[in-house]
Amino acid sequence: MYDQIKETCAQARAKLIVVSKNQALSKIQWLYSQGQRDFAENRVQNLLERKEVLPTDIQWHMIGHLQTNKVKYIAGFIHMIHSVDSLRLLEEIDKQAALQGRIIPVLLQIKIASEETKYGFSMEECRQLWQDGRFHGYTNIKVCGLMGMASLTDDEDLIRQEFHQLRVFFEEMKGKDFVTDNFRELSMGMSGDYQLALQEHSTMVRVGSLIFDAIP
Ligand SMILES: *Cc1c(COP(=O)(O)O)cnc(C)c1O
Repeated sequence: MYDQIKETCAQARAKLIVVSKNQALSKIQWLYSQGQRDFAENRVQNLLERKEVLPTDIQWHMIGHLQTNKVKYIAGFIHMIHSVDSLRLLEEIDKQAALQGRIIPVLLQIKIASEETKYGFSMEECRQLWQDGRFHGYTNIKVCGLMGMASLTDDEDLIRQEFHQLRVFFEEMKGKDFVTDNFRELSMGMSGDYQLALQEHSTMVRVGSLIFDAIP
C-alpha cells in the first residue's frame, strides 16, 4: 500500500507526508527503511517523544492545533507547521523561530468543511488579513501555502467541491502581488480522500491509517 500511494503521489508530483500519530514505532521504522523521511504528528508531546528515539534526518511536520505556549518546544526542529490558525500563533512561531535562529515554513489552515470545525481561518478572513498586511513583516516565518481538511463524509462530490474551493482560493492568493514566491504548497488529502485531493492539484497529502493498516 505504501509503495502504491507513494507512486500515485510521485506521478502527481505531490509530496507524501506519512501521518504517524497513534502508530507503532516499529512500523514507522519500517517506513523509514523504505526511504520515507517526511512524517507528521498532531500533538507536541508525541512529536517530542518520537523525535527523541527516531533517526535525526526525519523531517517532522506539525498538523494538529498548536497552542501558543507549546511552540517553544518544537521551534528548534520542526520542518513545517501546517496548522497555523491565528495571528497570535503566527506571532509566537516567529518569535520562537528567531530565538532559535531559524526560519520556519508554515501553512495557513483554512476551513473548508461544511461541518462546524473549530480551527482555521475562513477564506474571507484570510484574504482580508492578507490585504491588511497582517501576514507580512515576520522575519522568521515563511508562509508557504495553505492546508485544509474536507468534510468527513462518503459524499465524494462534496469532498471534491471543498477541495476545489480551496484550490481556487490558493490560486487566487498565489496571483496577488503581496504574496511571495514561497507560497506554493497546498496541503490537502488524507487516507479517505487523497486521490480526490490530488485531482485538485494538492501538492502535499497527509496519509496515515491507510498506510499503517497495511503494514503487518
Ligand atoms: C490524522 C490526520 C491525518 C491523517 O488521517 P488518516 O485518515 O489516518 O490518513 C491528516 N491530517 C490531519 C490534520 C490529521 O489530524
